[in-house]
Amino acid sequence: MSSFPVLTVYCLLIVAASLLGGRLPSLVKLDHKRMQILISFVGGLMLGIGLLHMLPHAVSQLGANQIDRVVVSMMLGIVVMFFLLRIFHFHHHDPEHLPAHDICEHEDHQHDHDHRHHADSLAKDMSWMGVFVGLSLHTLIDGFALGASIQADALHGSTSFLLGVGTFAAILLHKPLDALSITSLMRASNWSGKSQVLVNAAFALMCPLGAFLFLLGAKFLVEQQPLIVGTMLAFAAGVFICISLSDLLPEMEFHSHHRIPLSIALLLGIAMAWGIRYFEPAHAHALQQGQPPSPVIFEMPE
Ligand SMILES: [Zn+2]
Ligand SMILES: [Zn+2]
Ligand SMILES: [Zn+2]
Repeated sequence: MSSFPVLTVYCLLIVAASLLGGRLPSLVKLDHKRMQILISFVGGLMLGIGLLHMLPHAVSQLGANQIDRVVVSMMLGIVVMFFLLRIFHFHHHDPEHLPAHDICEHEDHQHDHDHRHHADSLAKDMSWMGVFVGLSLHTLIDGFALGASIQADALHGSTSFLLGVGTFAAILLHKPLDALSITSLMRASNWSGKSQVLVNAAFALMCPLGAFLFLLGAKFLVEQQPLIVGTMLAFAAGVFICISLSDLLPEMEFHSHHRIPLSIALLLGIAMAWGIRYFEPAHAHALQQGQPPSPVIFEMPE
């Protein structure tokens, strides 16, 4: 199975999920608790995919003697995403941009008032174009990650249709949350439903764009493929870890409600990431053939 047809199917599903995510509030009643359960589950899944798949897949592509390349790339992924978040403030998966009555009514939310107040003034002077640019970059990088994951499995000689399935699952479930934050932000500044859909669609298309660009680039540099794919996977691992923690940590810091269901959702997300192992090519977590496990060669004396 070649990479491009698989990628086409994945991208259609991801764009559909983004468009659906933008309409989520009109389909289901998403109160703060449900929203946080969703965020905890998807956060656990992203954390799991980043650590339990992208990182070992990167090592598998690059080989055991490239550990420093792996960790430096991963550090770069974390730092780049950290500064993107700091500059553009785009990862607002929280309900603060939903209409006020949707915000959790729980009494243990002492921070809600301050929080909401802060969010109001922030929403006003925050140029949502900045949010759009930030989210688009985020989605473009997700596309690179998807392209690299598909190519990594293809290089492992996988014949299944499920190339890069872990990364795909994480992006598929994460994108509706991104879409939700952009449409609710636009709604808060009184944009029409039609322009919300248009912006949301344009933003969703960044993921296929990133993935196709990555695969095209990798095609031109055939000799270097394992190096490029492995480096991108390690970078993407850092990105996924940073994004998931940026979603998971604020709720824990500012709120203490529904701790048990939220923790269960987080663990289920991580468990799902672990389970994806069984849908992967057999060698995805092993060192590539031809790489000796150790440089030490024992020679038997004659
Ligand atoms: Zn894996
Ligand atoms: Zn996101
Ligand atoms: Zn809360």
